[in-house]
Amino acid sequence: MTDDLNIKMKNLDKKARGYALKNAIAYNGKAQQGAVISSLFTEGLEKQDMKKYGKKISEIIQEVNKLSLDEQKKEFESFKDKLSKREERDGLPELPNVPKSGVIMRIAPSPSGPMHVFHGINAGFSFDYVQKYGGKFYVRIEDTNPENIDPKAYKLIEEDAKWLTKGKAIVVIQSDRIKLYYDYAEKLIKKDSAYVCTCSAEAFRELAKEKKACPCRSQTIKENQEAWKKMLNKKGFKAGEAVLRFKSDITHKNPAMRDFPLARINESKHPRQKSKFRVWPLMNLSVSVDDLEMKMTHIIRGKDHRDNALRQEMIFKVLGKKYPWVSFLGRYHFKDMEVSTTQFRKGIESGKYKGWDDPKLPTLISLKKQGYKPEVFWKMAEHIGLSEVDKILDKKEFFKLLDEFNAP
Ligand SMILES: [Zn+2]
Repeated sequence: MTDDLNIKMKNLDKKARGYALKNAIAYNGKAQQGAVISSLFTEGLEKQDMKKYGKKISEIIQEVNKLSLDEQKKEFESFKDKLSKREERDGLPELPNVPKSGVIMRIAPSPSGPMHVFHGINAGFSFDYVQKYGGKFYVRIEDTNPENIDPKAYKLIEEDAKWLTKGKAIVVIQSDRIKLYYDYAEKLIKKDSAYVCTCSAEAFRELAKEKKACPCRSQTIKENQEAWKKMLNKKGFKAGEAVLRFKSDITHKNPAMRDFPLARINESKHPRQKSKFRVWPLMNLSVSVDDLEMKMTHIIRGKDHRDNALRQEMIFKVLGKKYPWVSFLGRYHFKDMEVSTTQFRKGIESGKYKGWDDPKLPTLISLKKQGYKPEVFWKMAEHIGLSEVDKILDKKEFFKLLDEFNAP
């Protein structure tokens, strides 16, 4: 490790080794990068240091994980007194800017089936914080795409959410809030921050690629208000003929940020709302509106939402609101099992599994039936730690750990 960081943090490499040993001893000889890094943050390591030193820290962890549990325990003796006393207990790092009234956080599952282990862990992070600071925890079912909805999933997710949080979760269904999204679409049009685009998707893409505005971008507010009415009207635009776009920055260095769509027409029958609506908000509109209306303070989400977070921040800005604090999580994989609702469903349909609660499935409903307590997910989140690093997990080891967390 280079000198400047060693001066700043007083022997960071030794501390990294110490925390890796401590974490490994607590968890079957295998230290988790996220947990070690969380501990180092309490010692003064900062997020921006990770680019430079992340690799070194992960090498130290790998070295420690190669040792036997006995070797780890022996070596740890010499570290005991050198680590910060604050880290005697496991836990997630403190959040910045926590209001006196507590934090408001959420998870946002889509209704394609019940929740599984990885939903449980991701919920564990946010719910752990809500328990620590007080506040509210939302489970928001994101069903504004009429496609890919399992009508039974609503009830299943609601039950999962209730179990996972001992009844504390507030369950909200987005498709019940369509009128609210329309209000905001109209607000954005009125602020000249959204316009109805009637170009084909391809024509728009070609123009945007060259940082050129399409002709619709210069429509007046009044023209956009008229065109929006035509989107809502069954006798107006047809599906695919018009979308509502956010007026971001057509020269933005990231092409994905250039005038992204906010709403579209889709006349497919919605399993919950039937044929009540023909214009559906896209996630960047509905998520922004909900995070704003629900007064979200902190958001912990998958890192695949990084671009969306930027888009949503742009919408907040136009509406004169401060965007919540955000942290991103890496993805999890079992090296010996694909955790995918689609695959589970196929297995149920082919008779491989008896149902969503089959003991072979890592769904929450199955784990609940097997006697796991929801606390295992809060503990697992603390163990894995807030980190953007992807994690490949061994299913057997993972469940061994879950069993330990489940022990009375
Ligand atoms: Zn256009």
